[in-house]
Amino acid sequence: MFIDSHCHLDFAELQADADNIFALMRDNKVTHALTISTTLETFPDVLKVAEAHYNLWCSAGVHPDEQRDDHEPSVDELLKLADHPKVVAIGETGLDYFRLHEPLDWQRERFRTHIRAANICNKPLVIHTRNSSADTLKIMREENADRARGVMHCFTETQQVAEAAIEMGFYISLSGIVTFKSAKDLQAVALMIPLNRLLIETDSPYLAPTPHRGKMNQPGYVRHVAEYIATLRGVSVEEIAEATTANFFNLFKTAIPPS
Ligand SMILES: [Zn+2]
Ligand SMILES: [Zn+2]
Repeated sequence: MFIDSHCHLDFAELQADADNIFALMRDNKVTHALTISTTLETFPDVLKVAEAHYNLWCSAGVHPDEQRDDHEPSVDELLKLADHPKVVAIGETGLDYFRLHEPLDWQRERFRTHIRAANICNKPLVIHTRNSSADTLKIMREENADRARGVMHCFTETQQVAEAAIEMGFYISLSGIVTFKSAKDLQAVALMIPLNRLLIETDSPYLAPTPHRGKMNQPGYVRHVAEYIATLRGVSVEEIAEATTANFFNLFKTAIPPS
């Protein structure tokens, strides 16, 4: 069985095709998924999807690309949202210097707010970092993100960044990007990630893996990410499936698999 550790099932394109998406999850043995919050306004929709399916959980948080000046989430607000058995993580949060440009003090402050909330409710962080790894790691250290721990999602950074995050107790999640022909550097990093810190994800509806590149992505496709990593590392796909599933439940410890 496979688990998609990061998808956006509340997004309209996935909602519109929900029946087929759940059918493909079953066909591909993708047994569980974590659907990720990106704004305060859409959090109720995210939670609704998680509540409607025994095999889904969700996170609570505001994405670093959501630029706004009307309402920043507070620690208390995040704690309130996270106080629900279906909410097993805080995020996605982090820094993104690729899409947005300075001044980004609000983005760094928002990231700190999420880490503080995660440390209080003891739920792991889902961290997004793009063109910003030095500041991301710096804030993680300053705010003691090693207490809550979490996952570096859709990882595309260097071996050194992976090692620094792993040292803080974090997991590294690989998306369909690792299957792209052009992703040679990332494939080299993927070989080095300790098996007990590896997660897999789709980040759907974005970034469909080979052989579906260019199409709408969906949780069922996480199987291709696992198959690619297995071939890359010269191990069986069962070994990758078993390890990443065990890692998921080790990290998201309030996500109890149904017996
Ligand atoms: Zn992200
Ligand atoms: Zn995402």
